[in-house]
Amino acid sequence: MAIGDELVGGFTLDTNSHWMAERLRLLGYPVKRVTQIRDKPDEIVDQIRLELDDTEITDVFVSGGLGPTPDDRTFAALAQALGKELVIWEDTRARIERRVQRMHSMGLLESPEVTEGNLRMARIPAGPAHVFKNRRGMAPGTVYEAHGKRIFVLPGVPLEMKGIFTEELEAQFLAGGAAATVRELRFTFAVEARFYPLMRELEVSFPDVSVGSYPNFETKELVIRCVGADPKRVEEALEVIRRRAPV
Ligand code: AMP
Ligand code: MG
Repeated sequence: MAIGDELVGGFTLDTNSHWMAERLRLLGYPVKRVTQIRDKPDEIVDQIRLELDDTEITDVFVSGGLGPTPDDRTFAALAQALGKELVIWEDTRARIERRVQRMHSMGLLESPEVTEGNLRMARIPAGPAHVFKNRRGMAPGTVYEAHGKRIFVLPGVPLEMKGIFTEELEAQFLAGGAAATVRELRFTFAVEARFYPLMRELEVSFPDVSVGSYPNFETKELVIRCVGADPKRVEEALEVIRRRAPV
């Protein structure tokens, strides 16, 4: 779930979702859906509730809307969705204070005082399961547990999100997953529609392998991609396509 008016409005490309989806797939946590939500508390609350009600998923990843200005509202919305109070998280407040003082001593900030905007980032829903440090910025990353699911909330700034994800989150929360096997075949100048009967057949004979067709109009290549948990089955499906491709 990527949160930000700039994403939905077409100003900023949602690279966080793309990056996370790939990373999660490689870690063995395939993503069911990607959503982009505006910085509107009601819309954020609705989407969080929808995710929490979905019995097919175990984890929810949220990025964005944790900044120091009033247009960032993710934590307030999350507090509402979880029925929790917003509290100042002392650890995060202290980190922000040290960061502000460091930036002041480097001449990057006029005042060494923590502003209301800075403090806003330390105000998080009560009772997190974990709070990440974020070595690259002031906004904290947090983890909550609700409805038997984990909700990870990360800053929108791509560098900060990736930093927390790779340096803190993966080892602690995403160890032990097994990545799906991905195998591809590429056909040049292939007519996509001609793959229809073969792919219909594979849906029935290989329900455990998802087969997708992705034409690339720049390279004139058609990519047929097979993804599945069992490497042997993925290889078998690929072999059927290799043998019977209508090209
Ligand atoms: P925020 O945490 O909402 O204050 O986001 C801070 C900045 O990070 C924004 O100004 C965007 O430029 C960038 N950003 C936020 N969300 C994303 C995203 N999903 N993909 C790429 N950049 C983002
Ligand atoms: Mg924002």
